[in-house]
Amino acid sequence: MQRIKVTLSLLLLLSLTAFSCESKQEQKKDNEQTAGTQTVAVESPFSSENAYEHLQKQVDFGPRVPNTDSHAACLQYLYETLAATELEVQRQPMELTAYDGTVLRATNLIASYKLERTSRVMLFAHWDTRPMADHDSDPALRDKPIDGADDGASGTAVLLELARIIAGADLKNIGVDILLFDAEDYGVPEGVAYNGRTETTWALGTQYWTKQTHVEDYKADFGILLDMVGAKEATFYREYFSVNAASRYVNKIWATARSMGHSKYFINEMGGAITDDHYFVIENLRIPCVNIVNYNPSRTKGFGDYWHTHQDNMDNISKETLQAVGETVWKVLLDYDAEQGK
Ligand SMILES: [Zn+2]
Repeated sequence: MQRIKVTLSLLLLLSLTAFSCESKQEQKKDNEQTAGTQTVAVESPFSSENAYEHLQKQVDFGPRVPNTDSHAACLQYLYETLAATELEVQRQPMELTAYDGTVLRATNLIASYKLERTSRVMLFAHWDTRPMADHDSDPALRDKPIDGADDGASGTAVLLELARIIAGADLKNIGVDILLFDAEDYGVPEGVAYNGRTETTWALGTQYWTKQTHVEDYKADFGILLDMVGAKEATFYREYFSVNAASRYVNKIWATARSMGHSKYFINEMGGAITDDHYFVIENLRIPCVNIVNYNPSRTKGFGDYWHTHQDNMDNISKETLQAVGETVWKVLLDYDAEQGK
């Protein structure tokens, strides 16, 4: 993904608007509920051990760049892991054209819980990794593909563990779709001239899916994108497009995280505007989506220093971060299911 430059005043304005509309009441309530620093430790079925194992396995295949053997082997692993649950799994193979004309043989995976239900939540991540390290400090290594332990594998790992939980859960009202999108990170490299809208060179698998959804006229009440959710010292700020399209769900997720004691990760302030998979789901399907992404507006890159470098490896991964994200998303789903039953 990449960062879009949005003027600070626009971001400020938007954050003020977001806080001043329907969200104000909720915000107040959330603040009251979490007044003081007391939080109750909640037993969660989410296991960061399992998620970490899924993450390590993906990295062990090598960089998951479309058209490579590592990519094909990882796809098989992801498919088998999802198929081993009770979820209904579909493969969506595609041929996509990258910014440089390369034809990418890519595949989206979709695992569905209770396909017949109309009230649905989509959870998504990208599973491919960047074919280059264009932000690496060593110029000699910039054309080498990265491990993508955080950028790619982390969101996918959390979703594989959530798939296990969801498949065995007894949700009464909602259906869930877990979507693992391919070819997100093949976007135009830093410093390379591109004759077109650079944002459209990212999230190719997601763009394809939004035009040919796995079921006709696919709809979801809202979506949550997990991208770079496993790093030590990760911070998740409220992202611009998410707040713009889905402020109610942003509020809910950040309040839930806070109530579970995860405020050090989920920072209740505006971050950046990020061209990521959620952007195209919002634009093309009008589904409100929230991006949980490691970003901090005070950092030089915004993303972590390891972003699109060879430092995006296993050394950078924290089970604690995976746990915070996984159990928060699961709680949000549980609460939403209960709310839909009222
Ligand atoms: Zn990336």
